Amino acid sequence: MDQLIVTLDGPAGSGKSSVARFLAKRLGLEFLDTGAMYRGLTAKAVHRGIDPATEPHAVVELARHTDMRFDWQQDPPRLFVGNLDVTERIRDRDVTGKVSDVAALQGVRQVLVEMQKRIGKEHPQLVTEGRDQGSVVFPNANVKFYLDATATIRAKRRVEQIKAAGKRADLEQIRKDIIERDRKDSTRKESPLICPDDAIRVDTSDMTLEQVIEYLENTVREQMGMPQS
Ligand code: C5P
Repeated sequence: MDQLIVTLDGPAGSGKSSVARFLAKRLGLEFLDTGAMYRGLTAKAVHRGIDPATEPHAVVELARHTDMRFDWQQDPPRLFVGNLDVTERIRDRDVTGKVSDVAALQGVRQVLVEMQKRIGKEHPQLVTEGRDQGSVVFPNANVKFYLDATATIRAKRRVEQIKAAGKRADLEQIRKDIIERDRKDSTRKESPLICPDDAIRVDTSDMTLEQVIEYLENTVREQMGMPQS
């Protein structure tokens, strides 16, 4: 099989990252977290003291001159911006709070979408997740999913993740942050978060991670004529 690209789009906290990672493993594919790329650029802007809300041109310039790469030997792949491993740093709240403003910039999207298309050519057996993977970056993907869940459920999942990492989390604050990020991601002019017409929509609110992975895995196997596991 030459190309097998599976896209997973959806709002913050819909479980895309975990689902995509495990789904890739079960199907023997590689895994691309495109949110990490927007976060990586945001971390660099924060480090340089550039505020995306007031200095959008500076952020676009930064994007054009930023060398970003994943180390595909690691599982999950680690993200490097220049020589710096930013894999953990990009999950911090200051980065999360600014990433939607960075991702709303057309010039930034041009650069990162180009990088993602290139990654798709170099790694054509891929599960890729983000906001625009099925709609913009890989319109010819073999199978497209759109994962969703209520804001409260998504906030609870984030809280669990943060606690698991040994940090403290305030559920109500995270719920508010998620709703605000949804609003920005869905109303922006450039590649807003949408469910592509040809995507399979999955409401994961009442599903466990395992159930979601299993459903997606079975669907891909069925649609691609692959043997069921
Ligand atoms: O998925 P994650 O929460 O890591 O994404 C961080 C942010 O990056 C999102 O809120 C969104 O603004 C942006 N993003 C995007 N397009 C993608 C992936 C992420 O605009 N393909």
